[in-house]
Amino acid sequence: MVKKCIVCEEEAKYKIKDTSDYYCEECAKENFADIDLLVKVEEVAKQLKEFLKKKMQHMGKGEEEEKQDKEEILNAQDN
Ligand SMILES: [Zn+2]
Repeated sequence: MVKKCIVCEEEAKYKIKDTSDYYCEECAKENFADIDLLVKVEEVAKQLKEFLKKKMQHMGKGEEEEKQDKEEILNAQDN
């Protein structure tokens, strides 16, 4: 899922911690003197991958649980 910059709608490379505000590199630099305030979307994707990997290691789950897991993942993407 590609996140878009909330300013210019280019592909977002950064996101503000604990929010759903996404910025491309250019707008991030323009709006924030310190981009350490922002997390790289790549990093978030990496964390999500780790999360999925852990989930995959748990076998023999019921369908209802799997559905819940998907919702968790979606929530993780929005945060
Ligand atoms: Zn932008």
